[in-house]
Amino acid sequence: MQGFLQKLLSRGAYPSALLLAPVLGFVAMNLGAHPGLVLVATTVATIAFVALLERAIPYRDAWTHNHGDVATDSLFGVSSLLVPALWRGVADGLGITAATFLPSGLWPSELPIVVQVAIAFVIADLGAWAGHRLVHRVPLLWRFHEVHHSVRRLYWLNSQHFHPLDLTLIHAASVTPLLLLGVGPEVLVLAASLSTVNALFQHCNARVEAGPLNWIFSTAQLHRWHHVHDADYGHANYGAGLIVWDVLAGTRRLPTDAVPDDLGAQPFPRRFWQQLLRPFSNKEVSR
Ligand SMILES: [Zn+2]
Ligand SMILES: [Zn+2]
Repeated sequence: MQGFLQKLLSRGAYPSALLLAPVLGFVAMNLGAHPGLVLVATTVATIAFVALLERAIPYRDAWTHNHGDVATDSLFGVSSLLVPALWRGVADGLGITAATFLPSGLWPSELPIVVQVAIAFVIADLGAWAGHRLVHRVPLLWRFHEVHHSVRRLYWLNSQHFHPLDLTLIHAASVTPLLLLGVGPEVLVLAASLSTVNALFQHCNARVEAGPLNWIFSTAQLHRWHHVHDADYGHANYGAGLIVWDVLAGTRRLPTDAVPDDLGAQPFPRRFWQQLLRPFSNKEVSR
């Protein structure tokens, strides 16, 4: 019975969360819930679910223990909450809106909401993929993105372990096209809830098997290889929500070997402030 339940969680948890998050969010907003509140509730519920999965079906026992990283990961988690608001303020300040740059009415708001959310998710995800690829390719930008690759294990909390400047760039690449197109807040929140659910699952230390979804979404099974120090794997699987961009670009990697225990750029300072300042130092970068 326990084996059956674990198999069910392993195969069913991820697709169920991807489906339920936007459906429940849509229902909640139809009942009058504020879009911002819906995104917060989706994030909190997914964190709770993923944290439970990490206990019920851990992927790697060694990664279930505190590596002295929880305080740093938590501070990066808090700082990452500020980035969308920061970028929204900058975008508003620069007048980056549909009304200023583009003719109004570009966004197909007459389409069913499920189609609008799918379009918004794909556009934002392509921007995130391109931004992510850029920060791996440009040495100056890699200094900032290296902070995300310094994590030694994967679990839900380090899904937001990004240097704020790195996260701002990737977030801007992802969200700005939607702001320019004039996407409404409901569609924006439902697309963002899909991205949030995927990011949390992508970094989880749970034995989640995505099967054929590994050809569509950027799953935990694929993203673990993105955190491996070996550059052949580390500079691949750039997808945030979708892996199809990597399939098209020839950068999708999913070896059958076990993912190495030791991840990331090492040695690397472990404290939050040290990691914030590290890109500005003259220290060698890892690859
Ligand atoms: Zn990366
Ligand atoms: Zn990651």
